[in-house]
Amino acid sequence: MNFKPIFNKNKRPILIAGPCSAETEEQVLSTARNLRGFQDRGGLQVDLFRAGIWKPRTRPGAFEGVGVAGLPWLRRVKEETGLKVTTEVATGQHVYECLKYGVDVFWIGARTTVNPFSVQEIADAMAGTDIPVIVKNPVNPDYKLWVGAIERLHKAGLRRIAAIHRGFSTYGDSKYRNVPRWQMAIDLMQEFPDLELICDISHICGRRDILAETAQKAYDLNFDGLMVEVHPEPDKAWSDASQQITPARFAEMIGSLVQRHTTSDDPDFQEQIENFRQQIDELDEELIHLIAQRMRLVREIGYVKKDKNVAIFQPERWRALAEACRIRAEKGDLSHEFISMFLEAIHQEGINQQDRIMNDVLSPHV
Ligand code: PEP
Ligand code: MN
Repeated sequence: MNFKPIFNKNKRPILIAGPCSAETEEQVLSTARNLRGFQDRGGLQVDLFRAGIWKPRTRPGAFEGVGVAGLPWLRRVKEETGLKVTTEVATGQHVYECLKYGVDVFWIGARTTVNPFSVQEIADAMAGTDIPVIVKNPVNPDYKLWVGAIERLHKAGLRRIAAIHRGFSTYGDSKYRNVPRWQMAIDLMQEFPDLELICDISHICGRRDILAETAQKAYDLNFDGLMVEVHPEPDKAWSDASQQITPARFAEMIGSLVQRHTTSDDPDFQEQIENFRQQIDELDEELIHLIAQRMRLVREIGYVKKDKNVAIFQPERWRALAEACRIRAEKGDLSHEFISMFLEAIHQEGINQQDRIMNDVLSPHV
């Protein structure tokens, strides 16, 4: 697939900002005027103003957006501030309504990307237009589903397509509202180098206190831009109050992003890096060797279990082992998330290996 850029190629980071939801005309306009004000005073330039009109809410009863009533407000933002505007579309009807009001860019939300029927309906409604569209990752970490949604739009003839990484739903403890699983965004960058990739730090974090560090992380990972929810009075927001920030805080956060170089020619730097990399390579080799050794023991247990007809999964043993590893990992400064994922992968591989033994695919003592 080939893509055309939506944004100015010479300006990074691309900035998409605005409230989670359009609540009132005054709230929308005051946010937009504030954001535009930075540029007028020689400060940061917002590339696209966001505001949700139709809000996909997890539970019924929450604020579900003002609907078409908000579209004239977005048109006023354009007329008054010159900012380009974007909103979320989830159906063909949304597309038609937005086209009537001159919405500049559409975005497809995470809950829509998961549903190929909905994405196809949007693609069909957009076919023949040259409107740019930005595709959020699906709520679940399914790379193919994300690419599949982009493909549907591409097949409809659209070329000005970009992607938004907004993290993935999770169950259980996490410091994030939606865990980033950065590797998936990195994979997308590598597979489609000309696809602009924006990081929606607001929906990844779900809270204000870790927004800045997450923005820096996205910047360091070479994302093309950031999407940030900005509200004149964040605590009073009708949706996603805990993650929104004021325009002033937004400008301050963007102003403090540290630009890092991709590399350095300094010979000392090269030597130090080389030295560390060599040590890392040796450790990686040892790690693989240790894991292979561990799996050999797991297979031995498989034969013993098979002999006595004992079930593969032993929950008590697994709980105790995982707990002991977590305590050790904490002492070694490893995050809870990492160690959980690591243990899960090890456990799954062990189960697969024993399963093969129980089903006689492996001959004894390979
Ligand atoms: C949003 O951007 O307000 C939104 C609903 O996002 P997501 O689709 O990522 O949940
Ligand atoms: Mn939101």
